Amino acid sequence: MAEQPGKGGILYIVATPIGNMEDISARALRVLAGVDVIAAEDTRVSRKLADRYHIQTPMIAYHDHNEQRKAPQLVDKLVHDEDIALISDAGTPLISDAGYRLVRLAQQRGIRVTAVPGPCAAITALSMAGLPTDRFVFEGFLPAKAASRRRRLADLKDESRTLVFYESVHRILATLRDMAAIFDGQREAAIAREITKQFETVKRDSLAGLLAWLQDHPRQQRGEFVILVHGRTQAAPAAEELERVLSLLQAALPLKQAVELTAQITGAARNEVYRLALEDSGD
Ligand code: SAM
Repeated sequence: MAEQPGKGGILYIVATPIGNMEDISARALRVLAGVDVIAAEDTRVSRKLADRYHIQTPMIAYHDHNEQRKAPQLVDKLVHDEDIALISDAGTPLISDAGYRLVRLAQQRGIRVTAVPGPCAAITALSMAGLPTDRFVFEGFLPAKAASRRRRLADLKDESRTLVFYESVHRILATLRDMAAIFDGQREAAIAREITKQFETVKRDSLAGLLAWLQDHPRQQRGEFVILVHGRTQAAPAAEELERVLSLLQAALPLKQAVELTAQITGAARNEVYRLALEDSGD
């Protein structure tokens, strides 16, 4: 292929659609048609995509259950100058999908690994949810067992970044119920369901509101989901409390020290306390 450097083949990590079959890049199609082998999570699923774009490249199954056995075999092919494209059933390989072992093994053997980026449900959901995106944490799937799931949620309770989870149809209600109980039902969250598909739905509400809405709309409980939860926000100290602490400290300390200590005690922003102190002194 045109992108071939020196020795050995190239391992391409190729993103494929997460619903709408048109969401595949020109480069992805060229790479899939040009490599020697496509390593696919489920060859029956990927064959549909290949057929649609008249791609006849041979496919090998590569998934969570045969990864340990298959990774060395694929790397042998790469060492013998074959190019391989890794794809999953949907979206970006390695993101809650197999591939980690193959990428590391290939890199250890000096094989060039490159990516053909494209759809990813987590990133697409973030772009539509209307929750803060400047800092976020991808948590993937929560544990299936209720006790472990609740423990994980309790660990994440104080996280201030937007939380992004994948969830299956089987556990969507149980997970939302646990989130509402552990994070607080009033915490803002969003569900992105069936992204890029016919019944795509994006809904933002409190966790309690989302749970009630899903319970009232059984049809919305079907399909694939990304759950996004607003990070914990530091509650602003009540105005009276701020004033009380500030006036006590101002009576005993110079202005600068009183402001500094008030900010530390109440968690309020220094400039806000300073502004309040100046306002008070102007009374
Ligand atoms: N590698 C994929 C990616 O890049 O998003 C994720 C694979 S993971 C095995 C499958 C999970 O991704 C689903 O259970 C769901 O949580 C999420 N997902 C995938 N496609 C989706 C879609 N079209 N709408 C909503 N969630 C989706």
